[in-house]
Amino acid sequence: MIDAFIGDRRSFMRGSFLLGAAASAVEGFTMPQLFPGYIDSAWVRVGMVALQCVGALLTFKKDWEKYNLYFFSVISLMAVWINGSLYANGLNERLEVWLFVALFAWGYSFDNRKIMHYQHLFYLVCTLITIAFIDAPPDDRIGFLSLFLIVFVASYLILFSLLKNREELLQVNGELQKSQLISEKAQAMANMGSWEFDIKNNELKGSGQLYYLLEIDNCRPLQRDDVIQSFSEDMRAEVTEAVKKCIISGIPFDLKGGLTTFKGNSRYVRFTGYGEYEEGLINRIYGVCQDITAEFNAEQELLKAKEDAEQANIAKSQFLSVMTHEIRTPMNAVIGSTHLLFQDQPREDQMDTLQTLQYSAESLLYLINDILDFSKIEASGIELENVSFHLPRKLQNIINTFAYQAKEKRLDLRAEILEPLPHWVKGDPTRLGQIITNLVGNALKFTEEGEIVIRVRRLKTEGDIEWIKVEVTDTGIGIPEEKLEHIFDQFTQAQSDTTRKYGGTGLGLAISKKLLELMGSNIKVMSRVGVGTTFYFNIPLELGEELPEENFSPSVHSIEEEHQEGLKILLAEDNVVNVKIACKFLDKWGFDTTVAKNGQEAVDAVQQEDFDLILMDLQMPVMGGIDACREIRGMGYTLPILALSAEVSEQVRDKVIKAGMNDYSSKPFVPKDLRQKILSYTSKVKS
Ligand code: ADP
Repeated sequence: MIDAFIGDRRSFMRGSFLLGAAASAVEGFTMPQLFPGYIDSAWVRVGMVALQCVGALLTFKKDWEKYNLYFFSVISLMAVWINGSLYANGLNERLEVWLFVALFAWGYSFDNRKIMHYQHLFYLVCTLITIAFIDAPPDDRIGFLSLFLIVFVASYLILFSLLKNREELLQVNGELQKSQLISEKAQAMANMGSWEFDIKNNELKGSGQLYYLLEIDNCRPLQRDDVIQSFSEDMRAEVTEAVKKCIISGIPFDLKGGLTTFKGNSRYVRFTGYGEYEEGLINRIYGVCQDITAEFNAEQELLKAKEDAEQANIAKSQFLSVMTHEIRTPMNAVIGSTHLLFQDQPREDQMDTLQTLQYSAESLLYLINDILDFSKIEASGIELENVSFHLPRKLQNIINTFAYQAKEKRLDLRAEILEPLPHWVKGDPTRLGQIITNLVGNALKFTEEGEIVIRVRRLKTEGDIEWIKVEVTDTGIGIPEEKLEHIFDQFTQAQSDTTRKYGGTGLGLAISKKLLELMGSNIKVMSRVGVGTTFYFNIPLELGEELPEENFSPSVHSIEEEHQEGLKILLAEDNVVNVKIACKFLDKWGFDTTVAKNGQEAVDAVQQEDFDLILMDLQMPVMGGIDACREIRGMGYTLPILALSAEVSEQVRDKVIKAGMNDYSSKPFVPKDLRQKILSYTSKVKS
């Protein structure tokens, strides 16, 4: 019952109706007894009670407010009529007026029920007019009657529109609440609290989720300084600066950093803010604070994992580099000794074993070189050159390299250059040569009859870039379709018996693919078993400037005739086996060899004796080859110095040339090549 009077608007209305019904009933029974002249109609009283009861009952309905308006209007009219008749009989003592004043005051006390004020005010005004109307002389009654009607209709209309507004307001409020709820839910899901800062009033407001994120007691108002203090030191400075900038020039901010909640827990947050302009000034900043601790931790773990992986990769590369270097030194001895054995007139029955030994040693060396190369590329340890080179000449060199092999297999090996082709281009000639050499080498390996063609043509020009298509076609065994996509994987061959039948490691194409990717290209293959295979790629190359013919490179053709015996060679090498092998060859070629066990000994020897050439190992105790060369050049000696190193890479080549050496030979050396190099440099010196 109490609820009916002090609860919500609906309960309040119900209470009003019930009270009205009770008052009408009591009045109906008591008035005639109290006032003998009372001329109230019993039916009017019963009608009033019934109407009020129906009004009370209707408040249980969902759309009760609609009925309420009509009922209140009808009841008001009846009340006015009854009051008027009572007053006409001088019986009322204006009791009803006071009752309505009380009712109005009561309604007013419910400050959130604005409509009630109007309803009661309306009731009150009607009663006052009635009283005035009855008091007035008969001539003025028409005027009062009109006034009454106007007030009644106007009040009715006001009430009606108010009710309508209220309905709309309720609807808008409901939607607002709903969207607020959705926004809170969304914020909770995104772990994100919203905030707004009223600059004029220095007032900070935050959403429920912001309180939750900062672990602040919900009842406590947000203090700007509290929030700023909760950021980590770096972030605090950044936020203060960013907010300042946002207030002055409206620059939005988006910061990430650490934060300590009010309960002392650490979080990593994203803190954003935007300024809102009013009359050209920023009057409000609003934004979000998002908890991204989980993402941050995951990112950190990922970074750590990446660093670990990179570290592991570097360690792997270093291990491979050291291992291959270490393996190359004894390989040097094996290959060198085999060469020497071949030259010592072996017996006929020993030839087969020696050939196997030479073949295996060389295969092992290729494998070591490939592994080293691949691991370097994989660890992004190579840098591509960008120099001018003559493309058709490069292709011709490759053809020359394989000419002998092709002739032996009776294969037609040729290059077809489709003009117009830019001859001078810029790129990495060594690596491009390595790729084409690998493709031609494979083609030769897997082709028994027919032809091998290198086709090159220009595809298109894009600014300074020329797109060149390079194709290597053969009429060999072909590759089964299902193997095509795997042959570019490392250590993968089309058939399991490939190594046994043809040799190889399955690394060549993987290396070529990776190199081409570094050059912005992609290798593709077309093949039909028994018909042949075509590997092709489109490569972007800049136009290069024409260079004069290289005249410092050894000229291969003239060497054979130039036997320059008695040359004085200084061999700087610390490894005893390597020294032994090299000396055997150098002696055989008729050179006079002096050995220095390290760089320092080489520097000393150069000062004591005249040499025609130095063969310099790079890694030696006391002083390495690079430092020794620098010292020798520093002292003004210009004799040719050839580096001999087990490390074969462009970087090492660059390093030795920069240190002042003339050339570079890999270890284990191919005796014929080394001899040619020595002769070419010494003949130049001599001439
Ligand atoms: P390798 O030649 O050392 O085995 P590659 O990576 O160069 O390694 O080649 C991988 C495999 O692809 C070869 O083993 C061979 O099965 C296949 N292949 C490559 N080129 C050709 C070709 N021209 N004709 C037929 N098969 C080829």
